[in-house]
Amino acid sequence: MYEKVNGEINTSAVHVVDLRSDTISKPTPEMREAMATAVVGDDVFGEDPTVAELERRSAELLGKEDAVFVASGTMANLIAIMVHCSQRGSEIISGDNGHTFRFEQGGPAQIAGVQASLIRNNSDGTFSLDELRDRIRKNPDCHEPYTTLVIIENTHNMCGGKVLPLDWIEKVKNISKEYNIPVHMDGARVMNAAVYLKVPVERVVRDVDTVCFCLSKGLGAPIGSILAGSKTFVDKARRTRKVLGGGWRQAGIIAAAGLVALDKMIDRLQEDHDHILQIARGISDMKSKTFQVDLSGVQTNILMMYLDKSIITAKEVQKRLASVFETDEVKVCVKTSSRDAGVIRFVTYWEISDQDVTAAVKKLQLVIREIDNRHN
Ligand SMILES: *Cc1c(COP(=O)(O)O)cnc(C)c1O
Repeated sequence: MYEKVNGEINTSAVHVVDLRSDTISKPTPEMREAMATAVVGDDVFGEDPTVAELERRSAELLGKEDAVFVASGTMANLIAIMVHCSQRGSEIISGDNGHTFRFEQGGPAQIAGVQASLIRNNSDGTFSLDELRDRIRKNPDCHEPYTTLVIIENTHNMCGGKVLPLDWIEKVKNISKEYNIPVHMDGARVMNAAVYLKVPVERVVRDVDTVCFCLSKGLGAPIGSILAGSKTFVDKARRTRKVLGGGWRQAGIIAAAGLVALDKMIDRLQEDHDHILQIARGISDMKSKTFQVDLSGVQTNILMMYLDKSIITAKEVQKRLASVFETDEVKVCVKTSSRDAGVIRFVTYWEISDQDVTAAVKKLQLVIREIDNRHN
């Protein structure tokens, strides 16, 4: 991608590498073609054959009885919580760094009326199983809420795209099952997890009752997520989607892109993982004291770069990465995201090419060298 960056430079075009999120990925030409020719109908009447096909194929891929196409990952998680926790006075157990808790506007509390009980996330996206068992309300008396759901996240976004170990997921299931509590997987990027583990995604989600994944992230589709589970669960989810305003009409137009995503965009995710590792190596090679990555912990398409915020904040570094000055020998603008002054996040997706990665590494090294020189 080449475009002019405001301000600093206007003499030549600048190479922009946008690593803020995989949600930025645009539909592929094949998706646009499929969208243009999709056979559609009114999906609220159950008459859109393309949506039906996407739901059927998704359920099959996940090894679940049924699936429903929804507007977003946030909506998928909210619906799952509303269906699992329909009883008032419900409590969910999840990791404290989970997307449903941190970045969904408190929807579980705000809309579903559910309280969260949080266990500190380990750096690999898991949490303590002993604590899980402790926190489950056993035969709650009139003082306590009912534990109605356990949520796990795979891959774990804020833990840097970590893939949950399969045996840990199985243990979560076994503990939850003892108390008859279902497990929901926020699998926004669960396809990345399957590619990393080199197993069918069906295996990754085997031990959870319900799971959602985003078509609109690394899979490149423009809009939408899938929520899957038992037939009874999905029937209720469909009903809940409607009250949230998510009953849509000729949604086959976008489901068509989702079908291309399932066919063409899963196996290629390895390329995104390779790219993120290349960026991690580029940072690690600098042996900087201020900027660190956990090279051996890089697994999928997300990388966290940790910085010493007593020296410089993420905001300042991000600004420098995105700026290009006349005097810079590297004319590259790298866009990144951050939720914390001490961390910068990089995410790769299908439009990020080998050339983009090489350029981004050059720019990162330039900025790290510059800041290290200034502070040593
Ligand atoms: C992006 C994301 C979501 C929400 O998806 P949207 O489609 O952006 O609403 C949920 N969970 C995780 C882990 C995510 O990364």
